[in-house]
Amino acid sequence: MNLHEYQAKELLKQYGVAVPPGAVASTPDEAAAAAKELGGDSFVVKAQVHAGGRGRAGGVKMAATPKDVAEAAAKMLGTRLVTTQTGAEGKEVRRVYVEKACDVAKEIYLATLVDRSLGRVAFLASAEGGADIEEAAARTPDKILKLAVDPETGLEDAGGRKLATDLGLTGLQADAARSIMIAVYKAFVENDASLIEINPIAVTAKGDLVALDVKMIVDDNALHRHPEWEKLWDEAEVDPDEIEARRFELNYVPMDGDIGVMVTGAGLALGILDLIKDRGGNAADFMDVRPVATREQVAAGIKMLLANPKVKAVLVVAIGGGVLRCDTIAEGIALARKEAGGHVPMIVRAAGTAKELGELALRNQGVDVIFADDLADAADKAVAAAKGKA
Ligand code: ADP
Ligand code: MG
Repeated sequence: MNLHEYQAKELLKQYGVAVPPGAVASTPDEAAAAAKELGGDSFVVKAQVHAGGRGRAGGVKMAATPKDVAEAAAKMLGTRLVTTQTGAEGKEVRRVYVEKACDVAKEIYLATLVDRSLGRVAFLASAEGGADIEEAAARTPDKILKLAVDPETGLEDAGGRKLATDLGLTGLQADAARSIMIAVYKAFVENDASLIEINPIAVTAKGDLVALDVKMIVDDNALHRHPEWEKLWDEAEVDPDEIEARRFELNYVPMDGDIGVMVTGAGLALGILDLIKDRGGNAADFMDVRPVATREQVAAGIKMLLANPKVKAVLVVAIGGGVLRCDTIAEGIALARKEAGGHVPMIVRAAGTAKELGELALRNQGVDVIFADDLADAADKAVAAAKGKA
C-alpha cells in the first residue's frame, strides 16, 4: 500500500524527523484557510497522488498568499496529473497538501528499502538529490551511496556517521543526518515498510535538515498487525474491487481476460492461469481464497467475479485439504448463485475433503454449475464456456 506524502510526513514526524508545517485540503477554500493558519508569506501547494515527478508536471507550486494558494489548489484539484510515474492516464488529484516553503540550499536523497540480493534493509543516498535523481543515478551510478543494515545490530553509529560524511556533511548537519537515518530505520521496521524515500532532504539556508518529500510503501501482508492502516487507506486510489476483496480476505488481482477465476491456494491459482492460457483462454483475475475462508467470503468473491461485465465464464477450483473443505466452497457457490442470479456459466472442479458432500449439496439445490473431472477438463470447459460453447 502506498501512503500519500502528507500521511508519510505525519508518520515520520512522530519519529522525530523534521518536516515543514503543513495541512491537507480538498477544496481551494480549505487550502487558503490552511495557508492562513500556517502563516508566513511563502507556501508550497502539492498534489497528493501516489506518484513522484509531480514538480515537473505542475503538481508542486509555490504561492505567496492564501489567495495564491487557493488559485494553485483550484488548478490542481479535480484534474488528472500526468507525471513520468503515472502512465498516460494520470492520477486524479483529490487533495492537495499546503506547506510552508523552505529556503533550500542543497537537496539530499535518502531511501530505505529491502535489498533483496543482500536480504537486508539498506539505505541508498546521494548528495545530489531532488528532481533529477533518476537521471543522475543513471549517469553516475557510483555517486549513489549504499549502506546495508545488519538486522542483529540495527543501524550502527559508525555506519550512519560514515554515510553522513560521504554525503559531504559535517558537524551538526552530519549529526542531524544520522538522527534522520536512525528515525527512518525505526519507522521502516516498526511499520513493515518496503520503501521510505525522502527526496529531497533539504539543507536549508540556515543549515537545518528538513524532509521536503516522502514516499512510503508499507507491506500489505502485515495488515493484520496494523489496524491503524485502515484510516491511511486512500480508497480512491485503490481499485474498488481490490478493497472489496480485502474486506473478505481474498487475495485478488484484476486482469484483462473474460474467465473469472477463484482458486484455493495461490500456487495452484497461478498454475490454473497458465492452463487457461495454454487452452486458448484468458483469465479475468487472480483470486486466491484462504483455507479458513467462510462460506460468506467465498460467496462474496464469486459475486465479485459475476459482477464484472467482462466475465463470460467463472471457474472455481477447490482442493480440499487440511482445514479447507469442499462443502464450504460449494455452499459459497450456492449462495453466490442465489444472490447474484444471472446465467454466466460456472465450472467447478473440486477434489479432496468433503468433495462428495459439496457436489451433493450443489446438485440437491439445483445450483446451475458444470462439474469438471480434472484440472485440464476444467480449463477446457471454462475456455469453451467463455467462447459461448458451454
Ligand atoms: P516530486 O518529487 O513529486 O516532484 P517534491 O515534493 O519532491 O515532488 O517537490 C519537487 C521539488 O519542489 C523538490 O525537489 C523541492 O526542490 C521543491 N519543494 C518541495 N517542497 C518544498 C518546500 N516545502 N519548500 C521548498 N521547496 C520545496
Ligand atoms: Mg521528490
